[in-house]
Amino acid sequence: MSTYRPDFYPSAEKTVIISNSPIAGEISKVVGARVLPLKEAFYHSSLFEHFELVIYVCAVPIAVRAIARLALDKAKDPAVVCVDETLAHCVVLLGAHKGGNQVAKYLESTLKIRPVITTASDLNGKPALDQIPTYFAQGDLASVQRQINEAKPVALVANSCGLPNVLEALYTLDERSQDYIIEIARNDAGLRNDNNKGHVLLTKKRLVLGIGCSSDCSPDELSKLVQESLSVLNADLGQVLCAATIDIRKDHPAIVSLGLEVRAYGADELQEVRVPNPSKVVDDAVGTASVAEAACLLGASSGSQLVLEKRRSPKATLAIAQIQDRGVVSVVGVGPGSPLLRTRKSEIVLRMAEVVIGFEGYLNLCRDVLTPGQLQLSYKIGEEIDRVDRAIKEASRGATVALVCSGDPGVYAMASLLYERRSIQGRAGSYDIEIVPGVTAALAAASTSGAILGHDHAYISLSDLLTPWAFIRDALVNLAPTHLALIFYNPRSKNRRHQFREAMEILKGVRGADAPVLVAKAVSRVGQSTWITSIGELDEESIDMETVVIVGGPWTVVDEDIIYTRRGYDDSCN
Ligand code: SAH
Repeated sequence: MSTYRPDFYPSAEKTVIISNSPIAGEISKVVGARVLPLKEAFYHSSLFEHFELVIYVCAVPIAVRAIARLALDKAKDPAVVCVDETLAHCVVLLGAHKGGNQVAKYLESTLKIRPVITTASDLNGKPALDQIPTYFAQGDLASVQRQINEAKPVALVANSCGLPNVLEALYTLDERSQDYIIEIARNDAGLRNDNNKGHVLLTKKRLVLGIGCSSDCSPDELSKLVQESLSVLNADLGQVLCAATIDIRKDHPAIVSLGLEVRAYGADELQEVRVPNPSKVVDDAVGTASVAEAACLLGASSGSQLVLEKRRSPKATLAIAQIQDRGVVSVVGVGPGSPLLRTRKSEIVLRMAEVVIGFEGYLNLCRDVLTPGQLQLSYKIGEEIDRVDRAIKEASRGATVALVCSGDPGVYAMASLLYERRSIQGRAGSYDIEIVPGVTAALAAASTSGAILGHDHAYISLSDLLTPWAFIRDALVNLAPTHLALIFYNPRSKNRRHQFREAMEILKGVRGADAPVLVAKAVSRVGQSTWITSIGELDEESIDMETVVIVGGPWTVVDEDIIYTRRGYDDSCN
């Protein structure tokens, strides 16, 4: 079963790099996986069973010959990419839509390796039917996909349910084509595709498997229980969104081998869920009376219902919940720039989103994660309210929306605006909100040059576009005499110059011209530069909107190219 895995790459345990060249170490640094010599890998007959991503660092012919010996089965093969030994190109050999293309783009954004992508949908910027997040595609994918790639007509048929946004943007419902049809259906009835030529059936993945198992449960036993249980619902694995279990079992080989995203919960969280079949034995063993039933209900989140009560095999239990079609806006922080400073959660949420909305520059920070299966809407600076309102509109219609912010979404970004707009518009269109944190610019800035934020600190935005300058000034006057390090966001733009100058004048008057300052520009982006100076020496012309300025407090110390703030482990700090 070929299952779209939103959390696919780069999971270090499921990735291997194969090479004889020391340059492979560079790939290892950004992917986190180990390197096997070519010869050793050559005799590793179960390479394709063990790994989900195989990265060769060698010439393409060598890689092709190496994989030609291994069973080639589209549904089961891992993604395989080949990078040349000068790190110039990355060729996607297998599994383009199982993570191959994304890994190639990831290597481009981290190591500037040019991706060689050959899949037509990606090249044409068209959605790939097998990559539409949260949907399962069956049927004659090849011919309908060709039709989409060539921008030719396809009829959409929707049975009392919404369309995936990405298709809605391409085709209208009444478009006529007798030969090519995409049917979108709820999958409650266990619909099966009839395999007619030119017909694709798209169903929303709405099932969540709740799994409990003992430590010695075998993958075969669990897989059998899963198949049997799904067949009771006339469903199959393709309709399953994810698996859910107790945290101590999240890496259990039987669960991992199902090839699904795994959501895990602590015993205390599971204990809170009301279930039809609690068990005293389970409670005594793991501290909650239900794992399978409680986990699938939590995994499917609010409003979901149990569609299959707990069933058991000798060493496993399984229950199935169905997700309600409720939209969600996830406000996602993608960190300051580099993919290496993104959280894993932010990548999973981005990949799961049907609609991705953001300022163009922020979408560019996560292009390697996005796929043409998603509706991507980019907006200009200043269009913040439009962005949020569009996200609310899509989520109210049941879509999974990612609203992209740089850094952290709660720090001078879109999260609070979303709550504001919701309170103005009322909660009529019911949708969920999720805030996915990210590394804010200040933390990344501080880390480039030591630990200036080691003690108390405050964030101040010098932008007076939304806040009257008198309030900002007042905060500065009050904070200047404290021991807090002061972090300045939005310090200075082409049209806003006097605020920064005035802020530094206030601080100089209280903290003195020698007060240490860290200036961090374009952190973790192309052109990063950081330097340590003092308020007196600070060249304000060097400060722009891509800069964070941090002014140290009384316990901030400069030691050559390092700046840090002492916390009082010796008496001199008291
Ligand atoms: N939500 C973002 C902040 C948005 S406000 C976060 O948490 O980081 C925009 C300001 O953030 C910029 O004017 C700049 O001061 C700072 N900033 C954001 N990214 C930065 C980066 N990569 N390098 C330096 N400063 C950055």
